[in-house]
Amino acid sequence: MSQSAAEAARSPGAAPVDQMAVRRVNLVRVLGEVRSAGPLSRATVARHTGLTRATVSSLVAELIERRLLRETDYQQDGTVGRPGRRLEIDGRGVAALGLEINSRYLAAWSTDLAGRPLHERRLVHDATREDAEVTIRTLAAMAGELVDGALRAGVHTVGIGVAVPGPVDIATGLVRSAPNLHWKDVPVAGLLRDLLGLPDGVSVVVDNEANLAALAERGHAQSAAADLLYVTGEAGIGAGIVADGRLLRGAGGFSGELGHIQVDPAGETCACGRTGCLETKVGLPAAMRVAAPDLVSRQAAGTAFDDPQEQARELLRRAAQGDPRALTGLDEIGRWLGIGLSIPVNLLNPDVIVLGGYFAAVAPYLLPAAMRELRDRAVAGDSAVCRVTGSALGFTAAVRGAADVIVEEIFADPGRVGVAS
Ligand SMILES: [Zn+2]
Repeated sequence: MSQSAAEAARSPGAAPVDQMAVRRVNLVRVLGEVRSAGPLSRATVARHTGLTRATVSSLVAELIERRLLRETDYQQDGTVGRPGRRLEIDGRGVAALGLEINSRYLAAWSTDLAGRPLHERRLVHDATREDAEVTIRTLAAMAGELVDGALRAGVHTVGIGVAVPGPVDIATGLVRSAPNLHWKDVPVAGLLRDLLGLPDGVSVVVDNEANLAALAERGHAQSAAADLLYVTGEAGIGAGIVADGRLLRGAGGFSGELGHIQVDPAGETCACGRTGCLETKVGLPAAMRVAAPDLVSRQAAGTAFDDPQEQARELLRRAAQGDPRALTGLDEIGRWLGIGLSIPVNLLNPDVIVLGGYFAAVAPYLLPAAMRELRDRAVAGDSAVCRVTGSALGFTAAVRGAADVIVEEIFADPGRVGVAS
């Protein structure tokens, strides 16, 4: 409880608004306790939170009514007396929807409050050739189907998280720029809200794909490090930075533009208009050019697949078969990747770097060269060279992170979920 809320609770003449604030804070505490340590009895929740049994019972009744908690089967909990029913997270009536706008596809992923996946959708869509509005209309249609389908099953969608490949004004959901989509100042949150006719209670949160993927990786057991760097690996390259357990967004929310740091002043022109950005060296188009050039010409002729996930599979297939072109090409990509990663390694000293997108698929063929470069360039020596690993979430990291953001919103404000009708 915050100090002011605690004082309000003690004050005999506390205004109803303060009492409501205290109750809101306590709902969060009880729900959070069951989430982190459950299943728990009411008595244990009271002991852990320092609240009275009566208060806990009242709060639990409300959380059950909102279908956020439920009782387990009867169980003896080791104490004297009759067996009690313990509490666990329910959340089956609540869905969080994650969406992703990628230059080559649109994706959706929904979960219930306990993190159980409900639906997954993926649609090949060339956002580089369509107007922003057409892309957002297509995304809204996909989202609308999932929201309506969930509602028919009695599940209410409480919020939508959207991952986009570029810097975002978080407060307004405005995408400042997305060079690979040719977007500038696109009000994604506002457009989606209008197209879907969302009520005020349903939130729309837009964030950079790398930030959301970093959050998803942070929540993933394999990568639960306090200092983590997530690097996207698609047409665009970006980084999500978790420092000391928190997302590091920077003053304006524009941190992590790793792909647009210049690594080769004599290099090619980047989608951002600058020269020799890391993205021009290690983005998926560069990997296809050096490791599978025949596929690039087939692509140009319109006879080869365009989906980054399929391209990643093809690169892996060729490398695994020992295709010399693929092997030398990926080694070259690994070398540039190591040069690029040495910048955040020296600047941030992360515990782990998680490689997403196509990097994750072909990591075994990139890492030897990347680690060689990192060891050469880590100013503090070998002890500063962190673990570098492929993402276990692959191409779904961003869209899962987008759904996770909404789940976290509910745990921070359970009163937002309506009482089941
Ligand atoms: Zn650039």
